[in-house]
Parts: sequence; C-alpha cells; structure tokens
Amino acid sequence: MSAYKLLINGRLEDGDATMNVLNPATEDVLAVCPRASKAQLDKAVAAAKAAFPAWSKTPIAERKKALLAIAEVIEKNAGDLARLLTQEQGKPIADATMEIYGAAAFFKYFTMLDLPVKVLVDGNGQRVEAHRKPLGVIGTITPWNFPLILLAFKLPPALLAGNTVVVKPAPTTPLTTLRFGELIKDLLPPGVVNVIADANDLGGALTAHPDVRKISFTGSTETGKKVMASAAATLKRVTLELGGNDAGIVLDDVNPKETAPKLFQGAFQNNGQVCIALKRLYVHESIYDEMCNELAALAEQAIVGDGLQQGTQLGPLQNKMQYEKVKEILADARKHGKVIAGGEVPDGRGYFIKPTIVRDVKEGARVVDEEQFGPVLPVIKYKDTDEAVARANASPYGLGGSVWSKDKDRAYEVANRMNSGTVWVNKHADLAPNIPFGGSGQSGLGSELGEEGLAEFTQLQIINVAL
Ligand code: NAD
Repeated sequence: MSAYKLLINGRLEDGDATMNVLNPATEDVLAVCPRASKAQLDKAVAAAKAAFPAWSKTPIAERKKALLAIAEVIEKNAGDLARLLTQEQGKPIADATMEIYGAAAFFKYFTMLDLPVKVLVDGNGQRVEAHRKPLGVIGTITPWNFPLILLAFKLPPALLAGNTVVVKPAPTTPLTTLRFGELIKDLLPPGVVNVIADANDLGGALTAHPDVRKISFTGSTETGKKVMASAAATLKRVTLELGGNDAGIVLDDVNPKETAPKLFQGAFQNNGQVCIALKRLYVHESIYDEMCNELAALAEQAIVGDGLQQGTQLGPLQNKMQYEKVKEILADARKHGKVIAGGEVPDGRGYFIKPTIVRDVKEGARVVDEEQFGPVLPVIKYKDTDEAVARANASPYGLGGSVWSKDKDRAYEVANRMNSGTVWVNKHADLAPNIPFGGSGQSGLGSELGEEGLAEFTQLQIINVAL
C-alpha cells in the first residue's frame, strides 16, 4: 500500500504493483509508489477516450475556469508540493518552490489564449475558414529534471484545446505528479486527466496505443526516437522536446568578473540537469584565463548539499544512473583537459558531485561532444568568431545557445548565425509561457508554449463553402 495513488477515471487507485522512490540526497526510500500495470494504462486511456466527447464540447470559457482552479490549487499547496519535489528530485527548496509557482503561472497563462476560427477567404463565391479542433486522447511523458513545470508546458494547452489526457511522469520522480493528480481530482470531470506511474515500462505501450492521438514527450533524444518510431504505426502526432548540448560564445569584449556569475547560473542551475543548460562554453583567447579563474572561484564557493537544508545551492544528481554517467564523463574529461575546480565525488550517501570546471579541453572529449546533464562545465578556447560559430554549430543537437558581449549589435549578429531553436543574448535558459520553445536537429520536433504550443494540440480543419 502506498500513500500515493494513481488517478484513473476520476478515482484514486492503488497500482497493481508498487515500487520504491528514493531521495537522491540520502539514497533512503522516500516513498512506496503505486506502479500501474498495462491493464491500468489501458483503463486510463479508455477513461480519457470516454471523457473526450463531452469535454471537447464544453465551452472554452468553462475549460479556462478549470485551468484557473488547477492553478489555484497548486498555489494553495505550494509548500507541500515544493518539499516533496525537493525530496524526490534533489533540487534546493527555493528552486522547487519556483518550479511549483511557475507551473501555476503556466496554467494561468493558457487561460488567456483562444482558438478563434480564422476566415481565410470571404468573397468570389466562397468562404474558407480555418478551425482548430481537439485531437482526442493525449499522452504526456515527462523526464525527471523538472517534473511539474514540464507537465505544465503540456497539460494546460492540451485541456484548453478540448483534449483529454493520460499523464506519465518519470519513474524516479513520480510523486509530485501523483500528488498533483490527487489535488485536481474534483476539478475536472472523471477521465479528463488520468495520472499513472510506471517503472520505465509503459512509455512504449502509451506511445503505441491505438486510442491515443498524440504524444507530447520531453526526455532524451534516444528515447524520443523510440517514441517517434512507435507512434508511426498509427501516425500519431508527436511533439518531441529532447536533449541539448547548448553552446555559449563569449566574445572578446566581455568583462569576466561581471559575466561569470551569469554563465555559472546558466550552466549549473538544477545541477546542470536542464535541457537548456549551458553545456559548452566557448571563450575568446584574450579573456580565457581570467574567465576560467572566475568560474573556478564560483564553483569552489558553491554550497552543495541536501536541498532541504537552508543555503544549499546545488543538490545531488537526481538518480544513480545519471550519477554514474556524469562520473564517467568526468573521468574522461580529466584525460582530455584540466580540472581547475571541483571534480570531487564526496564519500557517503547521496549522489553528490562538486561543481566542476574543466579548461584546456576541446571537441573529442565526451564532456564537449555529449550532453553531460550534470555539474561539469567545459571551457573551450577560441581565436576568432567564425571559428567559434562553426564549432558551436557542429553538433547534432540544436536546442539553445547564447552569445555574450558588451556590444548588443555585435552579439545579435553572431546569434543570428547559430543553429539552435532558441538563441539568447547576454543571458541563457530564459523561458516564459508566452514564448514558443523547441529544438532544431536532434533536439526535437515541434514546439511548446505560446500560441504555437497550443496549436500543436489541435487538428487544423478547413471548411470551404461554395456561396
Ligand atoms: P528519458 O528519455 O530516459 O525518459 C523520459 C521519459 O520517457 C520518462 O518518463 C521515461 O519513463 C519515458 N520512457 C522511457 N522509455 C520510453 C519509451 N520506449 N517510450 C516512451 N517513453 C519512454 O529522459 P530522462 O533521462 O528522464 O531526462 C533527461 C533528458 O531529457 C535529457 O536528455 C534532457 O536534455 C531532456 N530534456 C529535454 C527537455 C526539452 O524541453 N527539450 C526538457 C527537459 C529534459
């Protein structure tokens, strides 16, 4: 038995099995969590399918009221949700609190959007209109780095457009999402939102399910490819928000002391476990040594610990698999570069790695070529801007990127030559609910947020009338 429940067809249920969820700061069992069976997944999809006709015909004003009520219940329970998020994910409590309030804000944002009928032609004997119709049952699949806010990229637009949803969080961080399901149970008709949890074994079944019309997926590129392959049999719509290896280019006119804290934040926020974390930093040779020293000083000062402790800046890695992967990447980085801060893996419990700066490193090292998804930043020296742009762009990924300079026009010109879905100037990893977000290349397909994100949860229908 678990203190947590699945939400299926408006009812809270135990899973057909259970699994343990660990606190990554202590490696202790945080909770016994319900684990859905394939039959429970099918039941959730059937409930969402049955709820669709009525929900899709519910006036949009009513659907907006439901979104607002969800935002309010998140805010009312923010303290408990944030504490739970810190315990299962590892992030400092201040960051967890921001994530919870951020999720509420994303629900509120979508209440400001509409799906009006657009008249494309009206005259010369015809009237042509573009309608945005709901798709049906949506499956949302989320990763473990930002369990609630990433769900809030998906659920509000899906519901606003008139779809019903089956929600599946990541197996190592299901608890905040399950608690969220309990909190919203009575705010929607049964079956409109269903929440299940799995042990990494139901994603494929949800993706292949013939009654699911779209998968909105956030996770790794490797899994994203599997999602696309298994969605192909039923030609499901997919939105894929995948991995990234964001480059930052620091031009020669930057003041290292002023800029290093912003770069540090861009790279180490959420312990580097951010799809749009700064993962490769290209710094002009004229300021390279100074910038490395500033970043190293910040890394040495950072307070690493249990996210529930006041003052902690960086928590543990979220799970053992990721912890082992980052340790391997760190060992490889030592062979290809010079570790000038951090690099230690403290003894004792918890998946902790000290924030690490690696200098004199370049392409060919895993920490540069791969998505490290952890607190290890490679700082790479370059000579001229064209070379830096070419190296930044030479990646299969294309999620985010940034350019840093005192001269905004110069930075803008360089930003315009980068390949990624988002490029920031003098900042990094700044997202907002009204600004569309998506990757190029192997970082994804489609976009989330903003009007574009809402449109992705609809089917475009043209009604073309002879007058
Ligand atoms: P992951 O791909 O291992 O897992 C993501 C989700 O997919 C989990 O819920 C998992 O259970 C599920 N899953 C596993 N196998 C599946 C299958 N065959 N079919 C369908 N679903 C399946 O990713 P992760 O390790 O949890 O998250 C880290 C990755 O997510 C990083 O690569 C990161 O960059 C990426 N990410 C991307 C964004 C973005 O918006 N682009 C945001 C956050 C994280």
